[in-house]
Amino acid sequence: MNLDLLKQQYTSCRKCPKLCQSRSQVVFGNGNPHTKILFIGEAPGVNEDKQGIPFCGASGQILQQLLQTINLTRENIFITNTILCRPENNRNPEQEEVNNCRERLDQLIQIMRPKVIVTIGNFATERILKKKGITQLRGKIHPTVINNQEISVIPIIHPANYLYNGRNPEMFKQMTSDFQLINSVIQEQKKQKNLAEF
Ligand code: URA
Repeated sequence: MNLDLLKQQYTSCRKCPKLCQSRSQVVFGNGNPHTKILFIGEAPGVNEDKQGIPFCGASGQILQQLLQTINLTRENIFITNTILCRPENNRNPEQEEVNNCRERLDQLIQIMRPKVIVTIGNFATERILKKKGITQLRGKIHPTVINNQEISVIPIIHPANYLYNGRNPEMFKQMTSDFQLINSVIQEQKKQKNLAEF
C-alpha cells in the first residue's frame, strides 16, 4: 500500500450517507508525502470542499502564519483531517463518521510513519490520544506508541477556535509557544539522526 493507492481507494468512499450528501469531493490530504511531520485537523470546511485541499481557508492562513514562525512551509509537512468529507453547515463530525474514517487514518499513519503528529483541536486530539480537553493537553509533548513506533504527539488549539474568539492575543501566544515546542522536537530529531531535512 502507498499513499496514492490509499487516496484512490477513498476518492469514491460512500461509508457515511450524510457526508456523501454534504460533500462535493473527498479531501484526502496535501503536502509532502515523504515528510515525518503529520498534521491532523478536524474536517474540511466550505473552502476545502471546493478546492480539495485541507486548510486552504481562514484557518489555513493562521496555520501558515504559525508554520512560518518556525521556518516551515506546507511543503515540509503533510496535512489531513480526522474525517475526509465536509459536514453540512460545519457541524461537528459524528462519532460514527470518525469511526468510518478510522481505518483510513490508521493506514495513512502506517504508510507515512511520522515521527511527529500535530493534532489540531479537540477531534483530532481525541482521535489520536483517546483523551479529551485540548486546553489541558496542549503545550505538552505526548509520546505515544502507534504501530510499534514512538511518535511525539503535540496537540494544538484549532485556528478556527482562535478566530471564533476574535483573534484573542493570549490564545495566539499559546499557539506560537506550541509551535516552538513542535520546532524543538523537530530539531532534536534532526540532531539525533544527523539530518538536514526531516
Ligand atoms: N478545519 C479543519 O479542521 N480542517 C480543514 O481542513 C479546514 C478547517
